Amino acid sequence: MTVALVSDDVLAGLLPALLDDDPDERAVTDTLLERVDLTAELGRLVDGLAELLTHARAARTRRAYESDLAHFTAWTSAHRLPALPADPQTVALYLTAHQDQMRSASLLRRLSAIAVAHRSAGHRSPTDHELVRRAVTALRRKHGTRPAAKAALVTAQLTVICTRLDEQTRPHSPEPGQSARVADRQARKHAAAVLRARRDRALLLVGYAAALRRSELVGLNIGDLTERAAGLSVFIARSKTDQLGLGDFVGIAHGHPPDTCTATCPIRAWREWTEALAREIGIAVEDLPHDSPAFRPITRHGRLGTPADPDPHARLTGQSVALIVKQAVELLEDPKRFPAVQYAGHSLRAGFATQAAAAGVPLDRIMRQTRHSSIAVALRYIREADVWRDNPTASLGL
Ligand SMILES: [Zn+2]
Repeated sequence: MTVALVSDDVLAGLLPALLDDDPDERAVTDTLLERVDLTAELGRLVDGLAELLTHARAARTRRAYESDLAHFTAWTSAHRLPALPADPQTVALYLTAHQDQMRSASLLRRLSAIAVAHRSAGHRSPTDHELVRRAVTALRRKHGTRPAAKAALVTAQLTVICTRLDEQTRPHSPEPGQSARVADRQARKHAAAVLRARRDRALLLVGYAAALRRSELVGLNIGDLTERAAGLSVFIARSKTDQLGLGDFVGIAHGHPPDTCTATCPIRAWREWTEALAREIGIAVEDLPHDSPAFRPITRHGRLGTPADPDPHARLTGQSVALIVKQAVELLEDPKRFPAVQYAGHSLRAGFATQAAAAGVPLDRIMRQTRHSSIAVALRYIREADVWRDNPTASLGL
C-alpha cells in the first residue's frame, strides 16, 4: 500500500525553496505540514523491522537502533505510510514533524537507523535522496550547533581569486588582419569582463572586510561608502542586530601603506568598481546617485541591469551574491578542497571572523566589525580558529 502524502506537484514547487541558499524555512515547513494529518491517531507500531538489525549489531547499538527505528515506524504507521521502503518524502516529513521535539543529533541518529534498516533489507535508503539531504542541512542550520553551514572564505583564497579577476581585465591585443567587426565584438566582450570582474572583486573584498551579511551587502548604496584618509567608511543602514534602525558605521582600513594598494585592497577595489560603473553609464564617478545601489546586476552580455529589467540602477539580489561567491570560489580551480556548493554570501562574513580570530584580533574588536550582539554567536567562529593557536598537542612531541 502506497499513500501519496505529498503530491509531486507540491514537492516540485518546494524544491526551489529547499535548494535556496537561504530558504524560507517557515514557508517550507508550513507547506509540508499542511499535507500531514497530525491529528491522526497513532496506529500500532510497525514492529519487526528492527529485527533486520539483530544479527549485525552489538546489543547496545541494536537497542538504540531499535528504539530509533521504532520511533520512525510508529510515525509512519500513524500516517498510514510505508516505512520499509519509505519514500524520501516520508522521511523529510518525519524530520519536519519532529524538528522542534528533538535535538538535531537524535534526529540524525534516527536517520541513520532508517538508512541501516533499508540497506539491510536490500533497499535504496531514502536518506540519500536530495530532498532529505536538503531537509537535514536546513535543520542543521536552524537548530544545529554549527552557526555557519557555509564554509569560510579567507584571505589566502581571496588573494588568488582577486588575482584571477584582475587577469580577466587585461586587454587582448588585436590579431593582425582582424576585421573591424571581430575587433569590435572582442572589445565589447572585454568591456563586459572588466565590468563584471571589477564588481565581483569590490563586492567580495568589501563584504569580507566589513563582515557584511548578504542582505547588508545588497542594501548598500553608493553614498554609504566614503573614502577617507584611513580607508573606507561603510554605513550600514539597517542590520539584524540594530533594533532601532539607526544604522552603524564600519571602517575598512588599508592593511598596508595607502599608496601601495594591492589587488586585494578593498578600498582600491571599491574605487575601481565605481570608476568602471560610472564609465559604463557614461557619467562621472561623482555623479553616481548616492541613493543608488552600490552593487548591481550585470547581464550575461555585460550590460547593467537584468534581462527582464535593463535599469542600470537595479539592485543585486541576495541570491546573486551567493552566486558571485560560488563563481569566485570556482576560480580557485580546486573543487576538492573548495567545493563551490559549500560557499555562499555568508562565507565572506564567516571568513572575516575566522581570519581575524586566527590573526589574534581580540574578541571585542572582531565583534565591533561583525556587529554581533551575542558573544556566544561570535565566539563560535572564533573558537574554531582558536583551536590552532598555541595548540597543546604541538608540545606533545608526537
Ligand atoms: Zn589600500
